Amino acid sequence: MTQSLSPEEIARFGADPQETFARNHAGLRARIEAAAARAGRDPAPIRLLAVSKTVPAHVLRAALAAGIADFGENKVQEGLEKSAELAGASIRWSVIGHLQSNKINQMLRFAHEFHALDSLKLAEALDKRLEAEGRDLEVLVQVNTSGEESKFGLPPEALPEFLAALPRFARLKPKGLMTLAALTEDEARIRDCFRLLRRLRDEAAGVHPEIRELSMGMSGDFEAAVEEGATILRVGSALFGARSYGPPITPA
Ligand SMILES: *Cc1c(COP(=O)(O)O)cnc(C)c1O
Repeated sequence: MTQSLSPEEIARFGADPQETFARNHAGLRARIEAAAARAGRDPAPIRLLAVSKTVPAHVLRAALAAGIADFGENKVQEGLEKSAELAGASIRWSVIGHLQSNKINQMLRFAHEFHALDSLKLAEALDKRLEAEGRDLEVLVQVNTSGEESKFGLPPEALPEFLAALPRFARLKPKGLMTLAALTEDEARIRDCFRLLRRLRDEAAGVHPEIRELSMGMSGDFEAAVEEGATILRVGSALFGARSYGPPITPA
């Protein structure tokens, strides 16, 4: 560690974050393996995307030291700042949250992958900017599988037309689908969301074989997601500790 930890950081990450993260990571991989075994799947290719939102850059150095370098951020500004602080480290950054068109340039300064494509307007704006920069971007299409109004993503029935329109945007490299399950304790409803995303992927596969990935499952539901076919798990709190969004505790 190049920077010492505040009391709040020690409370969340432990006195030795590298050790905490390595232990959490090993525990998660073991649970992924067990879930994959139940589903008769090979766990090796299942990707654990470490959702690093709210984890400061200096703490992410401990994650890097623990061999974790595949980070997901939902806020572009935060991701950009942290990626700048960690410039030079070999990190794969994904933006996993809704993107406003006016944040495209910021996102493209650090992101290798975008998980929340949900409109053709955004696809067009992204493609235009990528063309100007002479580069491509891997994207996943977000689908609202829960029907919850608070969630972003395409309605499932809009997906075929959306995928059919994407080849117009040559700089976008679609590789899969992404969803957030319903916000509920009801595991059956959560599984329904995952199953729906998988069915949509399977239905799309005939026409769009490049749509392979299923980005689904978070700290509370990743085992069900593995059983239902997830290929990318987006896990934050189970790896980095619970996020606190309250006001910072200022020592007296
Ligand atoms: C925060 C977040 C996650 C991870 O949530 P945890 O419950 O902390 O694992 C996954 N996906 C998205 C889009 C998120 O914003």
